[in-house]
Amino acid sequence: MTFRLSARPASIILLLLASWFAPASLNGQTPPKAMVLAWDGAVPSLVDDMLRRGKLPHLAKLVTGGAFANDVQPVFPSATAPGFASLWSGAPPRATGVSGNRVPKRPRSQHTVLESASGFDTPLEAEPLWAAAVRSGRKVVAVHVPFGGASSPGGLHFQGYAGIVSRDGVINARVSKPQLASDWKNMPASSIPPLEISFQIAASRFFGLFIDDPRIPREGYDTLIVAASRDGKHPACKLLSAPAGSRIELYWSSPVTVLAGSGDQATVYFRLFELNADGSDFLLYFTRPTREVVSPRELVNDAPAVVRSFVGNGGTLVYSQGGFGKTIPDGGDGLAEARYLETVAFAQYQLAETMRWAAARISWDLFFAYSPFPDESEHSWRGYLDPRLSSYRVEIARRLLPYVEKVYQTCDELLGAMLARRPPNTIVALVSDHGMEGVERQVAVNKVLEERGFLIFDERGRVDLTKTAAIYGGANNAFVLLNTTDRKGGIVTPERRGEIARRVRDALLGLRDGDRRPIAAVYDTQVDGAALGIGGEAGGDLYLDLLPGYEFDPRLRASEVVSSREPHGAHGFNPARPSMRTIIVLSGPGIHAGRRFEGASITDFAPTLAKLLGIAAPRHAAGRVLKEALAEPH
Ligand SMILES: [Zn+2]
Repeated sequence: MTFRLSARPASIILLLLASWFAPASLNGQTPPKAMVLAWDGAVPSLVDDMLRRGKLPHLAKLVTGGAFANDVQPVFPSATAPGFASLWSGAPPRATGVSGNRVPKRPRSQHTVLESASGFDTPLEAEPLWAAAVRSGRKVVAVHVPFGGASSPGGLHFQGYAGIVSRDGVINARVSKPQLASDWKNMPASSIPPLEISFQIAASRFFGLFIDDPRIPREGYDTLIVAASRDGKHPACKLLSAPAGSRIELYWSSPVTVLAGSGDQATVYFRLFELNADGSDFLLYFTRPTREVVSPRELVNDAPAVVRSFVGNGGTLVYSQGGFGKTIPDGGDGLAEARYLETVAFAQYQLAETMRWAAARISWDLFFAYSPFPDESEHSWRGYLDPRLSSYRVEIARRLLPYVEKVYQTCDELLGAMLARRPPNTIVALVSDHGMEGVERQVAVNKVLEERGFLIFDERGRVDLTKTAAIYGGANNAFVLLNTTDRKGGIVTPERRGEIARRVRDALLGLRDGDRRPIAAVYDTQVDGAALGIGGEAGGDLYLDLLPGYEFDPRLRASEVVSSREPHGAHGFNPARPSMRTIIVLSGPGIHAGRRFEGASITDFAPTLAKLLGIAAPRHAAGRVLKEALAEPH
């Protein structure tokens, strides 16, 4: 730990400006504002390495002027929904009610161990920071932040993830073969006969027209007109084909309206990555159709379309299924990665535009923004970067690493966009919810439970709850549920619980994969629940830790107990594991510049920020104030 006093003239001037222009509070000091950016799944080892090589300039600036921890412990399971529930509330999953990305349905008396619901849509049982801020009279903006969809007086909450209608995808000649166009009205000028395609997105039918625009010198077809009918007069968009890596503002469409199945409107963006000069093939990508979910809606009436039309994620499914071409691990030359990377850059661009608009146009004291990166890309690639895996090939790792780094650089640019909108006397915090680890083997816990007689199926292959004592739930939360009598259809009485828990534990710890024991530890919530912050009404009974390189196979009836799968990145494991650790950076008024601190948990973030802002800590916060990150005197 370093104790370095930093006298930075620029920040002193900013503080002076703040005190001149901002209204003074009762004690003569204006309370600071705060901007909080969350990077999902930031891996500290890569962040450190890129910082050392000068590849994350905005983060470097934040770290130099602030306090930085790179061993921050997430919660159990180290997944996104429980991570953010705990980051924003300072309370462990046991208290937030968010025990995973999916959670067992409650109340227990009305739902069986087989039922689960989305963890992201679960109402937080612990008060989040923004509610505490509003309680203290502060105004909040939340930009697509997990659990940040609530409205607050005078605040603005974007919640694009709640509006996603269906997945993104690609259209190519195999989906719709270009044919000579016929029956079009208002055909645009073309040097050669136009070709047409048609395709469906959500409940909307589209017609496409390939033309050779006479104003574009390029030989052959170069432009795609997309329209809701065979009419070139008012096309939904006009796309020029350009290779991946081209400028986003020039080659991505404006938001195009599509109908969701329910009849309401959603929007997509298009990108034409490829168009052969002879029109024989093309690659048209569209983002996930998404409804506009903002509260209150009237605050975005004058916002540009890009602010109101959410993208959210990159084309990770398209990429992994080969829709952008062969991936590098599959023998590709990097074209698929470059295309995927542009979808990442576009998702980040849409977030940055929303952030810029909201930060400038809406009054706020506390500003939250979230990016799903690097997590999304880490899932695709971390398995190829981890030299401990048996499938590791140095050549593949060497070729993929630059793309992984570019994703982190898009995150850094998003941070830069936030820093550019930072008013004087404003704290900037960068947080993350978990780390990532490469995995290539999976453990079907339910197969073990079935073989040992804890999980019973009837003759039609359904779980027989009248005989089942334990199950690894479909929610896939690193925990086993005991079918206790407080649950609907439960059979394990309080008297038998201890004995059943012990027998399940012994069965799981006894599992072998060659000479390895893939299930490394089992934690009983009746013993360790309070200390580890696990369990509770929405939690599990036995939380499992696996050996590095293994992940859970959540299927009810897998054919093998332990099996191999293609390498990829995973998280959700025991938060004490070094690979699950992540980062926190705090910078600004009240924070010790140049400080490194250790041993923090993500539950410490909310009470620490509340302290810095001079607001009450969230009501259920159990984390501590990170005094070592604060400037004296505190
Ligand atoms: Zn993830």
